[in-house]
Amino acid sequence: MARAGSISTLEREATITALEQGSFDLVLIGGGITGAGTAREAASRGLSVALLEAGDWAIGTSSRSSKLIHGGLRYLAMGDVALVRETALERKQILRIAPHLAEPRWMVLPCRNRATLLKFRAAVQVYETLGSVSRADRHVNWSSGDLAREEPLIARGAYPWACAYREYLTDDARLVLANLRGAVGLGALALSYAPVEEILLEHGRASAVRVRCARSGCEFRVRGRCIVNAAGPWVETVRRLDEPDAPDWLHLSKGVHVAVAAERLPIHHILVMNTADRRTIFAIPRGQVTYLGTTDTSYRRGPEAWPPVERADVEYLLEPVTRYFDIEPLAVHDVVGAWAGLRPLVAQPGKPASEISRKDEILIGPHGVVSIAGGKLTGYRPMAVNVLGKVAQALGQTLPDADPDDELPGGDFDGDLDGLAEKLTHGSGAPADAARPLARLYGTEAQRVLALGAEPLVPGARLLTGEVDWAVCEEGAVTVEDILYRRNRSAYWAPAVAREAVEPVARRMAGLLGWPEERVREEVSATRARLACDLAFDGPLE
Ligand code: FAD
Repeated sequence: MARAGSISTLEREATITALEQGSFDLVLIGGGITGAGTAREAASRGLSVALLEAGDWAIGTSSRSSKLIHGGLRYLAMGDVALVRETALERKQILRIAPHLAEPRWMVLPCRNRATLLKFRAAVQVYETLGSVSRADRHVNWSSGDLAREEPLIARGAYPWACAYREYLTDDARLVLANLRGAVGLGALALSYAPVEEILLEHGRASAVRVRCARSGCEFRVRGRCIVNAAGPWVETVRRLDEPDAPDWLHLSKGVHVAVAAERLPIHHILVMNTADRRTIFAIPRGQVTYLGTTDTSYRRGPEAWPPVERADVEYLLEPVTRYFDIEPLAVHDVVGAWAGLRPLVAQPGKPASEISRKDEILIGPHGVVSIAGGKLTGYRPMAVNVLGKVAQALGQTLPDADPDDELPGGDFDGDLDGLAEKLTHGSGAPADAARPLARLYGTEAQRVLALGAEPLVPGARLLTGEVDWAVCEEGAVTVEDILYRRNRSAYWAPAVAREAVEPVARRMAGLLGWPEERVREEVSATRARLACDLAFDGPLE
């Protein structure tokens, strides 16, 4: 049974009081997928949990991924069989507990000749065996005739064959929110815009953290029997709050995606392409765009929320498109959206970023702080279980098992998204073109979103009044950026809508949160600046 808690922005003060007055088994630092997934696993095992996030939920790497729930065929080529197996199996589980956040898609490997097709097929067969893929979901081989029907824009002169296998597309930030609300439904307390600034000791053990509310400026302490650092790219920064001389641990790698309007690259499936330097990138159709990614380059500037997208990144990602598709070549001016994220990889000295294993690693600090780094979105549940093993040791307690089939909020349906969309149109008054996207974003909870308001916020655009209310009252949105980037996601899948919606969203939030006119103006200008910055490949626009 999916249990969902509400994280209301209207309740921030009450949450701060409860955090300050409570004493928790576990204090988690970082509200990306690692922190949110661990919070839910811990709460479902009966632990009392406090989760603190410096910015908005999922503001770090967990909103900038390729959004694939995948076993990573390329990790098979790197010989990381255990990681491939674990993540391939994990795909099934995420599909079971959150079918709205795991959309089956064909991943198409175009081949120049039959020999390449046979090579890919052999690798895919191993992958499917490792992941116990059901017969109905196994790969298919496409001839030139099949390709003409399935993906007509592929340059069939150069790529007359293809092997297509199943992967799942997710929504990374919404997967974080679903885990977070699942944790809160099980009793966890969660606060965003609450950076941890100090780790406090008692009798030589980490026993509390000092937190600042980034909105009001107030400071408070949260006490915990075990402190877990799940701060992603910032994991070293947080670790050094407790252990200032801790040696380097991470190798940050920047990954960029760019989006072009769907009409410029109208494809149906996920296409796999090789870059000039023989790496693999994807072209993924979604909403009003097709996005291309990702790069994988060492990032030496240290962790930051918005690593820059550079012109060289954009050109690198556009280059293969001309070789794979019979379309008018894409140019930098075709790019309508772009994002960069930092992978918090565990360093392997001497290896370039793209060859470093994505495996996770846990370190226990001298005062008992548990830090976790590495890993993938796909493997967040096994990572959480590993962390809880260390937490149980620290607490000197055996933790009960959790039900692995317990659905995430919105995930309590049989996976028939079309059926759910049909119900939304006929039973809940969803505008016809919005029903399927709403079902994809919110699962069964879309009915409650629609009950809050089914009118488009911007004429003709798929962003409803109820989505803003839901984001504020149930999903803890504090700013306009939170809604457009990490709730409704239009900044990614419909950037033109996002630009139109900035002011209407600000005005709707003002009504809910009692903002004065000055705050509305600040929000509008900050969000517009953010959207402009996404496309400022040669440096900030100012
Ligand atoms: P984050 O999401 O960064 O979360 C850490 C959080 O800690 C941040 O929100 C930050 O604000 C917070 N924080 C930092 N300091 C403090 C503090 N002092 N107090 C409180 N909070 C703090 N994986 C897949 O499975 N599939 C993919 O398709 C995929 N594609 C990827 C593509 C790219 C370009 C990248 C970069 C990664 C990709 N990954 C993918 C990997 C995956 O996205 C990451 O492994 C995962 O999101 C990391 O999550 P996290 O919670 O560890 O870090």
